[in-house]
This record gives sequence, structure tokens and C-alpha cells, in this order.
Amino acid sequence: MSKPVRVRFAPSPTGFLHVGGARTALFNWLWARKNSGTFILRVEDTDVERSTEASTEQILDSLRWLGLDWDEGPYYQSQRMELYRERLDQLCAEGKIYPAFETKEELDRMREQAMAEKRNPIYNRAALRLSPTEVEERMKSGQAFVWRFKVPDEGHTVVPETLMSGESECRFENAAIGDFIVTRPGTLDKPGGPLYNFVCAVDDADMGITHVIRGADHLSNTAKQILLLEAMVREVPVYTHLPLITRGGKKMSKRDEDADPRYPVSVSARRDLGYLREATVNFLALLGWSHPSGEEIFPLDELIREFGLERLGKANANFDEDKYLHQNGWYMRNLPAEEIVRRAIPFLEAAGLSAADRPEGWLAEVIGLEIERCRLLSEFPEALAYFFQAPESYEPKGVRKFFGSPEAAELLDQTAGILEAAEPFAGEALEPELRRLAEERQLGFGKVAQPIRLAVTGRTASPGLFDVLRLLGREESVRRLRTAAEAIRSGVLAAGN
Ligand code: GLU
Repeated sequence: MSKPVRVRFAPSPTGFLHVGGARTALFNWLWARKNSGTFILRVEDTDVERSTEASTEQILDSLRWLGLDWDEGPYYQSQRMELYRERLDQLCAEGKIYPAFETKEELDRMREQAMAEKRNPIYNRAALRLSPTEVEERMKSGQAFVWRFKVPDEGHTVVPETLMSGESECRFENAAIGDFIVTRPGTLDKPGGPLYNFVCAVDDADMGITHVIRGADHLSNTAKQILLLEAMVREVPVYTHLPLITRGGKKMSKRDEDADPRYPVSVSARRDLGYLREATVNFLALLGWSHPSGEEIFPLDELIREFGLERLGKANANFDEDKYLHQNGWYMRNLPAEEIVRRAIPFLEAAGLSAADRPEGWLAEVIGLEIERCRLLSEFPEALAYFFQAPESYEPKGVRKFFGSPEAAELLDQTAGILEAAEPFAGEALEPELRRLAEERQLGFGKVAQPIRLAVTGRTASPGLFDVLRLLGREESVRRLRTAAEAIRSGVLAAGN
């Protein structure tokens, strides 16, 4: 039997959770759930200057919102320094790492020279040529140094990758990798902290990770991490490098968001805009993964069933905003009524629209009438506003068409009268009365319905008129009709147009 699956999501807490990071987390989570494995959360916070607690909180919060629960962790690398120190000491004792004293300026110069001479700008191993006495003297005198990993001179490193074919895409000549740095600069008294590739390899080994699923931008790191794992005589996991996410053919960036705040790159901003977690998870799952049937709606339980690393594509994944919105609309329409109400309330309340004193079920009905027109929760306040507040103005096009004559005012007054007397106050009682009114005035029903609609909603288009009237209630409907009639008679509307 193969080993139980252990995967990890390893964010660096230097900002919010990006949709790309969320996709990585999701694929790891799905792989764990599909295989009854373990999903580990590891916070890679060794970069003390750039890591913040606020960012960690935001990342954890976004993962919780998406429903990506972790089975172990969060582990914090900043709390695992002792382990890294031990591993470094061991690699040092085995002669697999060595101290190098070049300053940043020296290294820059060496790199420039290599480039000018069209050589691979890898470290020239000058430090390896120092005598042991000289190394000791320099260290004792307090000169700063980094630890470098001694990459084997020969052979190559092949990344065991599920997506790409080993020989052409995942094979790295060791001689071209260069002795990479595994710690920040430090001295004997104040050692430099361990760096990403090293801590990542130590942790993947220590945590028994079986599959590493992460962005394709990590491929060259993977070769280094495999070399480190081999040097530590630890098992190498299987890797999957997820295709790059692009939008409009370009890498997604925070700059696009500044240019167009409708399309943020952070998960929390999407949530605040009224994207649903269900739609977000479904949409993110399709960034690189697809189902052979071409089906694109996958609620989470189906995703777990259908997901597989073998169905991942290699081509860049297009972040299609329209598709995201479309899927969000689909999930909004398909949530149970009480659930969509629960999610809509914060958006309505933030816009000052409270349904607290309405009868039970009222908001669900109101939402039900407008939901077809909304693709984001944040669209509800505007779409539903007329149920909460009398119109402050009327759509000018409608005013020109339906409020242009004194007869319109008369019609609205008559309607108000009918509404006052109708029993019950519902379509069955209202419809025959309003049809009779239309006949009396020798008008088609639409010619009657439109001015009424405009008077009570301020709009020329709305859901079924009788539903709107019923949900507005008798008193409010009558008040709005009379207000509109008065406005027509007073001439303010004509003057305004
Ligand atoms: N902390 C790294 C990042 O956020 C983790 C990469 C990895 O999965 O190893 O990019």
C-alpha cells in the first residue's frame, strides 16, 4: 500500500492571500481530502522584516472562509529555529555546506563580470579555496559570512513531477545550479537566519510531506530542495508545479487591482465584494484543472470526488472574470433561501437597508424577485433598494414616456384608490380591478402597468408588478402612487427633464 498522503500549504505572511495562493491551497486540500490524507498549514515566516502577524491572520481567515480546514498546524517556521540549526550543524559536520565571506557588492561585481563574459553567473567557489586557518581567523575576527550548499559537480537533478516530462523540462544540470546560499549573512556570535530553500527542505522532510503542489514559478527552487533532501538523506516527495495564472494574457498583479477595484487579487477583497466561497472554490479549481466532460459547476463534495492531479493542464490558466461572475450568480441562485438571506443581510445593512422589522420570509421573497439580475451579493443593495425606500427620482426615460400627461396622474390616483379597497391585498384581487381600469381607459394593460411600476419603483423594469405591490404593502404602495401623481401634477418632473 502506498504511503498516506501528506501535503502542505506554506504561505509567506508578507501580505494578503492572493487568489493564486488560494488555488495552491485548494489543490493541496483537495488532494488530501480525496486521499483521506493530511493537509498541513505551515507559515513561512523566517523573513522577519517582511512577515507580519496581521498578514498571518488575514491568510488564516481567508482559508477559513474558503472552507479549507487544516489537519495540522499552523506551524510557524520562526518557532522551529532550533531544528534548522541542528540540520545546519549536521550538514556542516559532513562538509556539505561551507562558509563564504563575499559581501553583496563583491557578489554583484562577480555576477556582472560573468554576464559580460557570457558565463553562467554562479558562485565561483572562492571561499572553498581559503585555507581552514584563514576561514577560522576570519570567523573569529567577526567577519560576516553566509553558509553555501556545496552542489555536486557532476550529474543532474531530475524533479519527480506529475505534470511535465522529466527529461526535457525537469532536468537540471548540477554544474549549472551553483552553490546556493542557505542562510542570511551573520557572524559566529550572531548567526544569520536560515533561508527559504533550506527551511522548506528541512520541513518537507520533517513533516513527512509526500506531495508538494505549488506554483510553476518554484520549479528551479525544487531542484535545490531536492539536492538538500538528498544531502540530508531524506525521501524526496513528488512534485506538481501548477500552471501560471494569467488575466488578459498577463500575470495577475496588485497593480491591475489598483487600476480596476472590481477585480482584486486578494481573496478577502473578493469576499468583501460579495463573491461566495462556493463560487470562489469552484472557479479556482478550474484554474489548471478540468473535467473531461467539460462540466464546469463543481460543488466542493463533487470536486473532492472528481479532482485528480492527472487532470491538471500545463498551459497557463486564464482568470476569466466573466466566468467567475457567472459562476457566482449560479451559486447565489442555488443557495437555500435562508442561506442567501443570511449572506445578503450584511451587504444590505452596510448600505443602511434593514429588514429587521419586516415579516418573516419577506426578505427571502424580495431577494427571490431580484436574484436573477444579481451576480454578486454586493449588487443586492442597489437592486433591492426600492423595497426599502420610496424612489427619490424616476427613470427619465420612463418619465418622458409614462408621466407626460395629467391623465397619468389621474390613473395613478385611481390605482391608489383600487389598492386601498382591494381585499385581500394580493394579485388575485388587484389584477381584475386593474384590468378593468385599463379597459375603462381604453388602454392595453401594459399602458397601465408601466406608470404604476415607475411610480412605485422609480424604474421602467422590475419583477412582476403584483409581486412588487404585495411586498411593498398596501400603505406604502398607495403612498408612492399618490406621491408620483402629485409630482406629475405639480410639474416638477417635466421641469426636471
Ligand atoms: N512560502 C513559499 C511561498 O509562499 C512557499 C512555497 C512552497 O510551497 O514551497 O511562495
